[in-house]
Amino acid sequence: MNESIVSPLFSAPSLYVVATPLGNLRDLSPRARDTLAAVDVVAAEDTRHSQKLLDAFGIRARRLLAVHGHNEQQAAGQIIECLAQGEHVALITDAGTPAISDPGARLVARVRVAGFTVSPVPGACAAVAALSVAGIVEGGFRFFGFLPAKEASRREALMALVDERDAMVFYEAPHRVKACVVDMAEVFGGGREILIARELTKLHEEIAMMPLVDAGAWFDADTNRVRGEFVLIVRGADVSSGIDAAALRVLGLLLDELPLRTAVRLAAEITGAPRKGLYAHALERRR
Ligand code: SAM
Repeated sequence: MNESIVSPLFSAPSLYVVATPLGNLRDLSPRARDTLAAVDVVAAEDTRHSQKLLDAFGIRARRLLAVHGHNEQQAAGQIIECLAQGEHVALITDAGTPAISDPGARLVARVRVAGFTVSPVPGACAAVAALSVAGIVEGGFRFFGFLPAKEASRREALMALVDERDAMVFYEAPHRVKACVVDMAEVFGGGREILIARELTKLHEEIAMMPLVDAGAWFDADTNRVRGEFVLIVRGADVSSGIDAAALRVLGLLLDELPLRTAVRLAAEITGAPRKGLYAHALERRR
């Protein structure tokens, strides 16, 4: 049996990768609490932020060490030294699971190469929480985290995913989320479904599923909706439509210059894609 099921710590010095709540403090697991209380060092993305979490549970960390995106390599060296001296270390980030669109992966890799045990203390993760309520029955999913911040790069990244068959999971910042769903509607077609999961586990949690064509208006309907934290899950491509990314690109270019019917006719002739499907995509795009 895994030793840490009965005691929070292994007998050998180890790195524990501990998930913390996304917003609701009661999502910190009893094992996470015990581990944070028992380790010699808590390595945290933002020590001031994590101190508040520890205080809320009456946990007095023996030592707090900062591990963020800018010092991860250097901090890894320090943590390996702690482990070499027989100390146990827990890694936490500001919210959710470390190393998932958060610092931690480089540290984990270095610690493992150095020969120490790395063990997860699982818990909240925004992507998994959103997937658990998405009702994606068919196929799998792919996690992409944050898209590029600049519009042109974001659209390019989305174009590369037009033929993706699995559901796609993204994180997005509040000031970009509306522009992002509008781009998604243009690139993927308005008929694809999106799940918008906002402020999961928090007071203003909202989870809505809709065709992409309606997503921009969903944000416009209530100005508060662009506040908070977001996971976006877009259904994968419907392979039965028979329209691939190249055909959609040609259609898009023609639609920018020509009337809808002409653009559809030419796109069908150029690409060989079915005219009916192209027509449906063109209508969604114009809407
Ligand atoms: N490591 C975290 C995890 O396990 O989900 C993710 C950290 S990443 C820096 C932060 C992003 O995760 C946010 O911008 C948002 O996209 C998503 N996120 C975090 N908390 C969330 C919540 N309560 N509701 C919706 N999305 C959330």
